[in-house]
Amino acid sequence: MPIDAKQPYDDQNIFAKILRGEIPNKTVMETEHSLAFHDINPLAPIHVLVIPKGPYVSWDDFTAKASDPEIADFVRTVGEVARMTGADAQGYRILSNSGKRSGQEVPHLHFHVFGGQPLGPMLA
Ligand code: IMP
Repeated sequence: MPIDAKQPYDDQNIFAKILRGEIPNKTVMETEHSLAFHDINPLAPIHVLVIPKGPYVSWDDFTAKASDPEIADFVRTVGEVARMTGADAQGYRILSNSGKRSGQEVPHLHFHVFGGQPLGPMLA
């Protein structure tokens, strides 16, 4: 069920549970403010999710409320994930769904990093 990007943060969402260690994840990298882990249902050979550790529903919420260090950490982590996974070698895609019309399912901001194959015009 797509979520409303303006809804209050729900601390029972699946990524909040991953951040609290209540649900396992396949971590790619972790920093002070961000966590990157493999998508459970990969749509490409490389499909990693990058999330901030803070309680932000969407990109809108994050860019309005997060501190500059959180934003810098998150953006750098996305770049580092592309390099660490090798996605940067032949090209990759960064995508973030924000709110109902986009089809965002999990109400905690996440960037998808796709790579490892030709990606076509759209993905996810
Ligand atoms: P959205 O549609 O942009 O919100 O993407 C949510 C993504 O989270 C989907 O690609 C799911 O496969 C992924 N996902 C859902 N639950 C888990 C999990 O427990 N671990 C890793 N990825 C998950």
